Amino acid sequence: MKVNKAEIIISAVEEAQYPSDELLEFALIGRSNVGKSSFINAMINRKALARTSSQPGKTQTMNFYLINEMFRFVDLPGYGYAKVSQKEREKWGQMIEKYLSIRENLQCVLLLVDFRHPPTRDDIAMYQWLKHFQIKTAVIATKLDKVKRSQHQKNKKMIKEDLQLNKGDALFTFSAQDKTGKEEIWQFLEDILKT
Ligand code: GDP
Repeated sequence: MKVNKAEIIISAVEEAQYPSDELLEFALIGRSNVGKSSFINAMINRKALARTSSQPGKTQTMNFYLINEMFRFVDLPGYGYAKVSQKEREKWGQMIEKYLSIRENLQCVLLLVDFRHPPTRDDIAMYQWLKHFQIKTAVIATKLDKVKRSQHQKNKKMIKEDLQLNKGDALFTFSAQDKTGKEEIWQFLEDILKT
């Protein structure tokens, strides 16, 4: 995909603010600091349209990015940040659940996990939740450049096993630093947009 235009449409906190057209959406979810903003920026060839956070967990909005006036990435707020209060955690849960359960524009959730480590309990819970609600999911393992090549197969196996990844769900490895994986992921997204 050649990205000619990318812009943030709205940072939403509630349903009334979701864009009301019928453009297709890909939602991104993952723990704070996993590399969601870096992923979006790398995919659309921008340095900093999506904010890369020095303060993990700060963003509690759902950011809608319009790409080529054709579809959207929806950056959902990250989970698993220790310093977040119980109340904020609940607010987060309601916000995410609402979007994921009612949004008809949603085509696929991209669940980002850190390729260096086993999936966290929150990652596993998130994946199970998505599967329970039968939401199409692809897992993207980030920070590939930080893992030695000799570890790649082992870490892929670990992610598949820990998440109990369904056979039909794709697993991609990705580096925002050197852009490895970018073309494969675009191909996957374009195939969905075509159907
Ligand atoms: P977010 O909180 O999920 O949006 O995470 P960010 O995109 O802000 O990334 C968190 C940190 O990880 C930043 O310091 C990024 O530079 C770094 N990072 C993200 N993706 C990669 C990657 O693929 N490779 C490397 N080496 N660092 C990454």
